Amino acid sequence: MGWRLDVAEASEHYLTESDLWRLTQQFLLNAAHTTTYKHVLMKALLECTTELDETGKVTFLEISKHVTKIYWNLVITNGLRQVNTQTVESSVEKVLKKFQIKHNVPLEWSFENLSGSLKEELCKSVNQVYKNYVYGSFYSSFNGTVYSFNKKEEWIKIVPVYIVFFEKYKRILMNVTNYQLSIFLEKYNSSELMQNILNKVEFISARHSLKEFKEILLKSGQDKCFYCRKTLKKIHVDHFIPWSYIQNDVLWNFVLSCPRCNSSKNNRIAETKFLIKLVDRNKEIQNLEYMTNYTEKKLQYVYELSKLNDGHVPYGTFSLERR
Ligand SMILES: [Zn+2]
Repeated sequence: MGWRLDVAEASEHYLTESDLWRLTQQFLLNAAHTTTYKHVLMKALLECTTELDETGKVTFLEISKHVTKIYWNLVITNGLRQVNTQTVESSVEKVLKKFQIKHNVPLEWSFENLSGSLKEELCKSVNQVYKNYVYGSFYSSFNGTVYSFNKKEEWIKIVPVYIVFFEKYKRILMNVTNYQLSIFLEKYNSSELMQNILNKVEFISARHSLKEFKEILLKSGQDKCFYCRKTLKKIHVDHFIPWSYIQNDVLWNFVLSCPRCNSSKNNRIAETKFLIKLVDRNKEIQNLEYMTNYTEKKLQYVYELSKLNDGHVPYGTFSLERR
């Protein structure tokens, strides 16, 4: 029983890309899922790949921030049940609902509306559930190949080939995970709640407001459009690498732009000359606390992979020439 393990080392197999697909498929299609715990951990890990340290390690608490945000939006904001029976609730649902009542949080609030200290309190409680039930069983679902973990020290360390795999196929892996999660939810929730489910699940982690990032960037002196250099009047916050690929809101990937550049860039990847500019821009803001775990290498790596995933004409190739 994987969930009982306290410490485990990842097994040292040589894994080819097709092994990784097979193991991931085995995990996702496993009929024995009784809750959404493991799907949500998969989503959180895919979101977390930008936060790993150089050894591939990430703390339970860091992961819990992603897990809690996803669950808040599923359970509280959207009222969706997370377990395969009608009579009981999963521990995560209990924790969230108790918290919502205790602090009298309006049901329509999204996770980002909660204050910093409330978020922290809730992440700790959710972390406890995940620590007890999920890390070990997720480990077993991948035959012990995906990460090493230590419950006492509260971290996992993802195996290098999996990090590359998750980065390289993030978009498709996220889509498949969202799809499987939606299928599970569909079985145990009313059809009324399930309207638009795939859309809900896909954007469950996306922020409603990027104001916080806008303010940080403005304060650090970014007052011109990142792309066309015009002085900003109306300001848009742009994901340099599109959100659909990176699936995480990290400061080093945000730039301020004018509405025109933002809307014509839309969901595309910017040209290489803008990547060079972003590398320089990030040097200027390197000391901000939001830049933890940022490296130039990481940005370049994610940029190259997202270009491979993208297949569109990079932004800037012709639209800027028209001006
Ligand atoms: Zn512009």
